[in-house]
Amino acid sequence: MAHAEALCAERGERLTPMRRRVLEILAASHKPLGAYEIMDQAARRGPRPAPITVYRALDFLRENGLVHRIESRNAFVACGRNHGTDALVAFLICERCGAVGEAPAAAIAQPLAAAARGAGFTPTMSVIEITGTCAHCAKG
Ligand SMILES: [Zn+2]
Ligand SMILES: [Zn+2]
Repeated sequence: MAHAEALCAERGERLTPMRRRVLEILAASHKPLGAYEIMDQAARRGPRPAPITVYRALDFLRENGLVHRIESRNAFVACGRNHGTDALVAFLICERCGAVGEAPAAAIAQPLAAAARGAGFTPTMSVIEITGTCAHCAKG
């Protein structure tokens, strides 16, 4: 939260109560959450927010690199890594427990982009999703 506050202050943005609440909920979860799950959790500590306010808060958090969207799950995870919003990120998605980790992927970003350009393609993708088994589940 301190990171989010500092980042917003630095950019002249406001971490409104709804933005803060959505980020807190995502940061407290080790699994990605869909927008409706976020609403359910927010409703436990106050009035149920309207979908549009949650989506707006998510847009804001994504634009500022505080939250990522996992496309294949249509769900969101908090990110405290403070990397650029255009950085290539690899998500490690556990097929057993649903936990999502994040690995820096800058080292593979360049060859990947070069391969795409070699095929005459201009890449805009900034996310790689890798499914498998997390360290915790591999032990058990
Ligand atoms: Zn991240
Ligand atoms: Zn797992």
